[in-house]
Amino acid sequence: MSEINFDPVVLTQSLVKCASITPEDDGALTVVENHLKTIGFECYPLNFSGNNSYEVKNLFATIGNEGKHFAYAGHTDVVPIGNESSWKYPPFSGKIDGEKLYGRGSEDMKSSVACFISATKRFLDKYKKLPGKISFIITGDEERDSVNGTPRILEWASKNNYNFDHCLVGEPTSKHEVGDKIKIGRRGSISFFLQAKGIQGHTANSHLAENSAHHLVNLLNSILEKPLDEGNENFLPSSVQIATIDIGNTVQNVIPELAKATVNIRFNDMHSSDSIIQWMDKKIEKIFSKLENASCTYTFEANAESFLNKPGILYDIISKSISDITGKNSTPEQATDGGTSDARYIKNYCEVVELGIRNHTLHKVDEFVYTKDIIKLEKIYFQILENYFK
Ligand SMILES: [Zn+2]
Repeated sequence: MSEINFDPVVLTQSLVKCASITPEDDGALTVVENHLKTIGFECYPLNFSGNNSYEVKNLFATIGNEGKHFAYAGHTDVVPIGNESSWKYPPFSGKIDGEKLYGRGSEDMKSSVACFISATKRFLDKYKKLPGKISFIITGDEERDSVNGTPRILEWASKNNYNFDHCLVGEPTSKHEVGDKIKIGRRGSISFFLQAKGIQGHTANSHLAENSAHHLVNLLNSILEKPLDEGNENFLPSSVQIATIDIGNTVQNVIPELAKATVNIRFNDMHSSDSIIQWMDKKIEKIFSKLENASCTYTFEANAESFLNKPGILYDIISKSISDITGKNSTPEQATDGGTSDARYIKNYCEVVELGIRNHTLHKVDEFVYTKDIIKLEKIYFQILENYFK
């Protein structure tokens, strides 16, 4: 068992040393649990399975009996390391070199989890009687299916009468300096797995065949023809990306019967999964309805709807806390870009804002954080607790 040490830099290292490649845990949640237990939290390790996904370890921890309920949400799983020999230091060493702490998950998002634990410890030390409730919603599966993680913890909490007033998600949101950017919404994501079907034949006898690839290419062109939208004040334009085109033909003299493509769409709040599906249906109809010998079918995965949380009390408190620590009067940029996050589930329960460390090396080889950024983020988190509960 790793030692109990609430220094946010040391605690980040302890977490990075767990090789918690999603959805493996490798002791990361135990590090969180052991620290929170030490400062009086009731801890509930929650293992969920089913729903057509693998089993996931999670942790819910809570302290306080009455008053406002503040939740912090995060994940301890990390994405795979890629090619280990490309890393300057072993990816799970937590090696500090000069101003940098290296390791997979150092930025996304073990430093944030460490900072919120440290800030909570300092806050509880300062106020012997907690003027409210604080809970940690920590999942071991944010980076992959996200099925038996945060959504299940939230269901469980609700069933057990834990109702949150506000939630801070610690994903890395900052840009040039810690606290200059927060997230108040996210784009949605849907993937289509398209399959065009024609009639196989000899390339020399094309009149006896129907080339599925030609029709698929026409469909993809029509999909890319015109942007879905131009974006709006809160969101970037929606993005349509062809992820794969697969025919798998091993010879050059056969006209393929089947041609497949995967299309991923990141959409803003001007669309929903349903409206995107209707858009896709129309595109397919336009290309294929007049063809006698070719057709197109698809399956889809609707991964997330887009959402926007209008800035409220929590936003104001976070914004003020950042100014208190940085000494700057400017308000942080309110963004909705990037991938999806578990905030998309939490928004159904309470106001949620995302604020974390600078986003610059996440998911890359040699992921690192500046130790001075960890120290600053911990101070901002502490200030958020101060301003929230006073
Ligand atoms: Zn993350």
